[in-house]
Amino acid sequence: MAKGRIEINEDNCKGCTLCTIACPHGVIVMSTERPNARGYYPAMFSDAEGKCTGCALCAVACPDVCITVYRQVPARTQPVEAAV
Ligand code: SF4
Ligand code: SF4
Repeated sequence: MAKGRIEINEDNCKGCTLCTIACPHGVIVMSTERPNARGYYPAMFSDAEGKCTGCALCAVACPDVCITVYRQVPARTQPVEAAV
């Protein structure tokens, strides 16, 4: 399975929580301690167990385009056969 990680632009986040709802693995949480410069408590990536698959559902859900997704796909172990 692919592995992923995300980066959240916390300065642009408005704390709407849509990304936390969209993530099927529950690896995005809302900050409760540190508001950004606009006064919102931003979303944070919290994936100590490496559950993120890089599916990008969070990025699609974010109305402010705050999330960048990085996805690592395992290398093929078998050569691809050419169609004849
Ligand atoms: S890329 Fe997918 S698994 Fe990773 S944080 Fe976003 S929604 Fe969750
Ligand atoms: S969807 Fe975007 S704006 Fe809303 S909490 Fe997540 S990162 Fe912030």
